[in-house]
Amino acid sequence: MSKDKDRDLATALIHHPYRPPEGFEAPQVGVHKASTVIFPNAAASRARDWRDKRGYTYGLHGTPTTFTLEERIATLTGARHCVLLPSGLAAVALVDQALLAAGDELLLPENVYGPSRELARTELARWGIGHRLYDPLDAASLAAAITPRTKLVWLEAPGSVTMEFPDLAGLVAVARERGVTTALDDTWGAGIAIDGFALGIDIVMQALTKFASGGGDVLMGAVTTRDDALHERLKLAHMHLGLGVAGNDAELVLRSLPTLALRYHAQDAAGRELAAWMATRPEVHRVLHPALEGSPGHEYWRTQAKAAAGLFSVLFDERYTAAQVDRFVDALRLFRIGYSWAGPVSLVVPYPLPAMREAATLQRHGLRGHLVRFSIGLEGVPALRADLAQALAAAFAA
Ligand SMILES: *Cc1c(COP(=O)(O)O)cnc(C)c1O
Repeated sequence: MSKDKDRDLATALIHHPYRPPEGFEAPQVGVHKASTVIFPNAAASRARDWRDKRGYTYGLHGTPTTFTLEERIATLTGARHCVLLPSGLAAVALVDQALLAAGDELLLPENVYGPSRELARTELARWGIGHRLYDPLDAASLAAAITPRTKLVWLEAPGSVTMEFPDLAGLVAVARERGVTTALDDTWGAGIAIDGFALGIDIVMQALTKFASGGGDVLMGAVTTRDDALHERLKLAHMHLGLGVAGNDAELVLRSLPTLALRYHAQDAAGRELAAWMATRPEVHRVLHPALEGSPGHEYWRTQAKAAAGLFSVLFDERYTAAQVDRFVDALRLFRIGYSWAGPVSLVVPYPLPAMREAATLQRHGLRGHLVRFSIGLEGVPALRADLAQALAAAFAA
């Protein structure tokens, strides 16, 4: 894992071009808020094309604050273009809506972010767009699912609950050979761990809600591309749908970006230490963390990723009851029960394993037991380990 690239990334994000107002040399970006943007005269208002994002036309279509954040997120993922959305899920929906029409199909990995699958199952289905699932650990299953109607393949690395890391390069090769556009949900990688564009992926989306924000206090999504024509389609759909983000929210993310790489690696190190410790515990059947040997897809993580998010799942042995597992979760004091990750507070969520994957896939990958997912915050590792130890003792002691 090379930290040099991250140091360069941190430098690039901190010293990113920004021109402050004349005579006000502060490095921090100003917060601009507007619906109305005043034109100097009638001719300028008649000449202005609201689709041209080089100029300002109306607050919904961008302000100096949101344009700066778009440019920085593009720098982060190695893209040329970026559009911002009010949540990560809205970013997923934009990609689907911009690229798919009635009669088309999209392919989702079986372990895809749950709401993304729900969107396909409900709204997209109503609009005549079909979806199929593929096993992310099996490129042949993707090849078998592609039909002449397939217009989009979503990739996710790893699955955010069962943590399998797919062969991204292999899956992209299959999609490219068939001329199908690929989109990566890079919320886990956060632009740090995975170089999606170098792998040949067309669209890299992420929930800025998680790592880019890092505060647990803002919702935002980003869709980035290198290809001009693809960006044009995404940008026009974004405008037609009336999507935009607020200046104060953009400021929160701008303020967090300089510490992104630091936070990512700190949570990575803490997550690996605690995951390895949990794996030594007799109550635990298996720990799912792509950087741990034996975790599904570990080999692909080792060769295709540079770091890991501070996120892992534990499978408690089947000899315990669900009530005991809930007692463990309830006994935790520092780990709070709640969704999301990458904020300062460590979080825990119990998930029903049978609902997460197809039964055959669970069996094929030897996944069984009671699943509990942990996301590591910024507390001290010894304190978190002590919290896990006291909760294990409270719930599972004979
Ligand atoms: C959180 C998350 C999203 C959605 O982000 P929101 O901002 O909460 O809508 C999408 N994909 C993944 C993998 C996520 O973890």
